Amino acid sequence: MQTTLNLRDSEESLPALKALNKAIEGRVYECAVISTADIVFSPDIRRACEVNLCGNYGRSWACPPAVGTLEELATKILAYKNALVFTTKHDLEDSFDFEGMQRGKDIHNQLSLDLHERFGKTNPIYGAGGCSHCEKCAYPDPCRAPEKLLSSIEASGINVSELSRSAGVKYNNGPNTVTYFSMALF
Ligand code: SF4
Repeated sequence: MQTTLNLRDSEESLPALKALNKAIEGRVYECAVISTADIVFSPDIRRACEVNLCGNYGRSWACPPAVGTLEELATKILAYKNALVFTTKHDLEDSFDFEGMQRGKDIHNQLSLDLHERFGKTNPIYGAGGCSHCEKCAYPDPCRAPEKLLSSIEASGINVSELSRSAGVKYNNGPNTVTYFSMALF
């Protein structure tokens, strides 16, 4: 595991980072700390959500428009100084191995949910894709399990490939692999 540190206000932030780092140790491929000030919030990503290729727009409490405006989402994230960005990498049989992609996503989501349960009250966790806790989201009826609702990097208007560049973490780990991103704020 590679860890790159670029910590703002290190004395104040170090205990949270140590706890998060210990929790992900051995379960991630790469991780790095970046200042939240270096995160780019992109109206283009928001527009991509509106096109609704993933089918979650207007159908999930964890996706736009339910999550709020780009400005509101950025304000929430910028209230924290640092983000621990981490990835998991999964081998595939070939580029059409959709089952392998889903298996990898399930493993990644489980890690993000574990962190959310342990740290979410003080350190918001942002996962890959929308909330997948329920087979079908209750939206627009009330969320069935608000404590399990996992925010999403993409639904927050963050371009994952730019995030990977800022963090110095690889977006793509080669042929026949899939890489998923999450982040923890502290
Ligand atoms: S916990 Fe269930 S109802 Fe709530 S946002 Fe997630 S999928 Fe939707």
